Order: sequence, then C-alpha cells, then structure tokens
Amino acid sequence: MKPFPVLLTFDLDGETSFEEMHPGIPYWVTQGGYGPRKGVYRILDLLDQYEIKATFCVVGQTAERYPEAVEEIVSRDHELACHGYTHRGYNALEPEEEKEMIIKSRGILEEFYGMTILGHRTPRWRPSQHTHRFLQELGFKWNSDYMGAENSFYNIIDDKKSKLLEIPVAYNLDDWTFFYDWGSTVAETVDVWKIEYDARYKDRTMYCLTCHPQVTGRPSRLLCLEGIIKHIQTFPDVEFMKATDYVNEGYVE
Ligand SMILES: [Zn+2]
Repeated sequence: MKPFPVLLTFDLDGETSFEEMHPGIPYWVTQGGYGPRKGVYRILDLLDQYEIKATFCVVGQTAERYPEAVEEIVSRDHELACHGYTHRGYNALEPEEEKEMIIKSRGILEEFYGMTILGHRTPRWRPSQHTHRFLQELGFKWNSDYMGAENSFYNIIDDKKSKLLEIPVAYNLDDWTFFYDWGSTVAETVDVWKIEYDARYKDRTMYCLTCHPQVTGRPSRLLCLEGIIKHIQTFPDVEFMKATDYVNEGYVE
C-alpha cells in the first residue's frame, strides 16, 4: 500500500489578490506584500526544520516583484507551480487573454525553476470553461481548483478523460477562510485541520492544505502549520509530497 499522501501547498499572491479586491488601499495591499517580504521565509524555515518539501503556486507578477523570494523557494528544493500572472480569476478574462496569462506566468517561473512547470492553480480558484483544455494543450500535468471531492481525478476535457490530474482543495483546509473570512483563532484553525486530517487518513483519501505566506507566515499563525505538521508526523505510513511527485507516483488510475 502506498503511503498516505500529504500535500502542503502555498499560494504566493503577494499584493495581487488585494489589488484585485481592494485596489489602492494600503490596509489590504500591505498585508499581501507581507507574504513575499516576510511570511514566506518563516514558512521555508519551518519546512526545513521538519524536512518537508512542498509546492508553491506563485503569481507571475509577484515573482517579478520579489525575485529573491522565488529564488529562495527554488534553492530549498520546493516545487513551483503557476498561479496566474495577475490574481484575476480566469472566468473574468477573454479566452485569448487567459491563455496568454498562463503562458506568460509559466515563462516567468521557469526562469527561476530551470525546469518545466507542470502544475497550475487558478487565481481565486475561478477557472473558465477553457482552462482545463488550455492546460492540457500546454502540457501541464495537474491543476488544483476543485472543491467537490477529497480524492484526485483526471479532468474530463471535450467529453474524454484527460491526462490533467485535478488535485482537489477544500474550504476548511485553507488558511484564508479561517483568518480573513471567519476571524478564527489559531487554536480553532488547527483543531479543524487535525480533525479533517484524522477523517481523511481513516478514509485513505488524501490531504491537501492550502496556505498563503501572507496569512500563515505571521508569527502566531505559523503555529497552525507547525501544529498540523506535528500531528501528521505522529501517524505511520504518511508521506509529505510535492504535487508533481504525487502525480508521478500513480495514486490515481
Ligand atoms: Zn491566490
């Protein structure tokens, strides 16, 4: 039996998410910038401490603004994945513009990565009806937007099972939900993450956590990440994996 797969994923939005939602308002935009300026380094140190490799979904514009942060992610042997050029959902773009954004952001990240980028997560988790087809045409191996399942599956594109694996995310496994939407405490958040982990481990599905350096990279909130890592590491037959390694391991037929 393969080990239970745990994917820690980090969306490095920088200012871009708030530039979409609250343009020009420093209260918000500076919170976003905290991610690539400070939070990401704190997270990288924690991952090193627990010897975990993870996946960072990086917005192209953020990589241009904070190249040193992206270089640091790569130098510590984590995976880079595309997360748009800006943080605008693809459902708000024209199809040609969407495809250009994917190509542009991949080109920027590959300059840092030195390898082909094989993973993608749509900004705001809002793909268009064309996104999966574009990703398949461009040779991506995985995407990570869907909320309607615990297990991964191959997307259906043009009525056929594709080779683009969808790695599902979850509303209750996202730091943004707890801290920005619900105003949860650190203790409440890590409790939910642990309970969800226990249930998924029992069901032998998978565990994909989505964090944002601007959110979880804050000093006290980092304890959530450390808390769930320590909890997971008490279980036997578990493996923390980069997303593309998970895809290549053949967990999904
Ligand atoms: Zn994002």
